[in-house]
Amino acid sequence: MSQATPEITPLEERLIDLIKLKGPITIADYMTDALTHPHEGYYMQASPIGAEGDFTTAPEISQVFGELIGLWLVEAWQAMGSPAAFNLIELGPGRGVLMEDILRAARLRPGFAKAAQVWLLETSGRLRLEQQKRLKPTEVKPLWADDFADIPPAPSLIVANEFFDCLPVRQFERIKSGWRERLVGLDEKTGRLGFTLGKTPPPPNYDIPLLDESEEGDIFEISFETRKFAGDICKTLIDQGGHALIIDYGHMERGLGDTLQAVKDHKYWPPLASPGRADLTAHVDFESLADAAIEAGAAVHGPVTQGRFLDRLGLALRVEALCKNQPPEKADAIRSGAARIASPGAMGEIFKVMCLSSPNLPVPAGFES
Ligand code: SAH
Repeated sequence: MSQATPEITPLEERLIDLIKLKGPITIADYMTDALTHPHEGYYMQASPIGAEGDFTTAPEISQVFGELIGLWLVEAWQAMGSPAAFNLIELGPGRGVLMEDILRAARLRPGFAKAAQVWLLETSGRLRLEQQKRLKPTEVKPLWADDFADIPPAPSLIVANEFFDCLPVRQFERIKSGWRERLVGLDEKTGRLGFTLGKTPPPPNYDIPLLDESEEGDIFEISFETRKFAGDICKTLIDQGGHALIIDYGHMERGLGDTLQAVKDHKYWPPLASPGRADLTAHVDFESLADAAIEAGAAVHGPVTQGRFLDRLGLALRVEALCKNQPPEKADAIRSGAARIASPGAMGEIFKVMCLSSPNLPVPAGFES
């Protein structure tokens, strides 16, 4: 992390003016602006993903990731009775690499792509252009949506890789006498953005841990956006049939801790230092996500670790098939990419996979107990 004070970004200037006028804002509001502000939001600016960007993701590391998910989707579609028309929805498709790999693997069953209306939920105009270019040679004609509610109801297969970690969280800090919301205000010394605490306790329906289950200084995170999103997705799944495969880094069980983090140029960055110029995420609370889905009436499978899920889907066999007849350097690169996405020391354990499903469908592959 750089020791020098980072340059003030145009979005930080705007936020400082806003806070001077109206007082501190929630961390959720800060995240929303930092990531998706129509002009200054991080995802509206440069190309964030891949070696040239700020962070990389599993589909960018290994084609095997998307191919195995493509085969998973074909199997899930067949288990739904191979509907002649369904929505294949990706939430936050980045550069479109995952969807490209999914469609290549799914060619195994040509009926799949013919039946699929591909929907891409994407906030960034730049990334939409990249997705359009990348998917142009494929057999599908994707449509784009700003909101999940804009996608017409149909049986649905939904995929979200590193999407839920972008959804805003609110944070509460345990003080001596109770809990207070952690807010973004102004640092007294520098006048730049800084953390501060709200003055009133949170409402009782926020599932905040009891005082004797926590200590002074503990942080509790909650994402109302995630719960709402999960509820909306499950309503579609229950009414129309289908599955939502959610892959992200996060924890299986609700807990305490500050997981807000920024990444810039593949390095951690102070979360308030460069709004709009650094990626900003929080770990996904899979227990909360599951609770919201169960409350909506959906079935929940997993979470299982990404490594386990990929192994169960046949990662080793797929890797060896790809390595066949390749020169040794190419085969090594394929193997090391696969190890990175699946091994416990890399992305295999911290990343989890959960499936939300309409309750009448069989348990999908990878989630068998
Ligand atoms: N799934 C991709 C990219 C992950 S980055 C991959 O695995 O490589 C997060 C993606 O979600 C980006 O495409 C970003 O623009 C999009 N995104 C973030 N917040 C969003 C929101 N609120 N609505 C729609 N898309 C969003």
